[in-house]
Amino acid sequence: MKFEEFDISSNLKKAVKEMGFEAPSPIQEKVIPEILQKHDLIGQAQTGTGKTAAFGIPIINDVNSKQKHIQALILTPTRELAIQVAGEVQKLSKFTKAQTLPVYGGQSIGHQIKTLKRGVQIVVGTPGRVLDHVNRGTIKLDQINTLVLDEADEMLDMGFIDDIEKILRNANTERQTLLFSATMPPAIRKLSNKYMTTPSHVTI
Ligand code: AMP
Repeated sequence: MKFEEFDISSNLKKAVKEMGFEAPSPIQEKVIPEILQKHDLIGQAQTGTGKTAAFGIPIINDVNSKQKHIQALILTPTRELAIQVAGEVQKLSKFTKAQTLPVYGGQSIGHQIKTLKRGVQIVVGTPGRVLDHVNRGTIKLDQINTLVLDEADEMLDMGFIDDIEKILRNANTERQTLLFSATMPPAIRKLSNKYMTTPSHVTI
């Protein structure tokens, strides 16, 4: 299969080419069409499989950069992963006007608030800091189209369950929810039963 076959913008196809991706990885082949169809999805995949682009490509394709509100939220367990995922999303959106901001603890919240005020469509962040912004009203999730829980098992292991549930309860109920996890312990199934709508399952 080729990236050309996906129903995505030419700007994205150009970015993927520039990044040196010759063909979609197996997870991208399976997941990108599902996400483009707005289904909720549970992806059981390890890192290194290309899962970031698997959710990043459909998210960027869906962003309306003329609108300045947050349209997608990606939650990650660590600041390192937030920075890495945001970097990949920024590369993929190089030929678009979509703005992506990593948001994590340990970095000046004032600086983050300033950037958020300028208008950011995609936020990638750790649960604690994202919830802090939600409580301050500096991140509003009532108009997001997509919410991603990346490395969900890691986030639960790190004790983020309460923060994640508060964030999910604050988010647009019409949103699409995507959950990626290397393992599927009962707590993950519980979370997906509670906050996702008839998700499709993809295992790599
Ligand atoms: P990830 O699993 O998202 O952490 O991705 C692992 C690495 O694979 C990253 O450096 C990506 O830029 C790269 N990558 C993702 N998709 C592809 C692809 N289709 N072809 C080649 N490399 C890719």
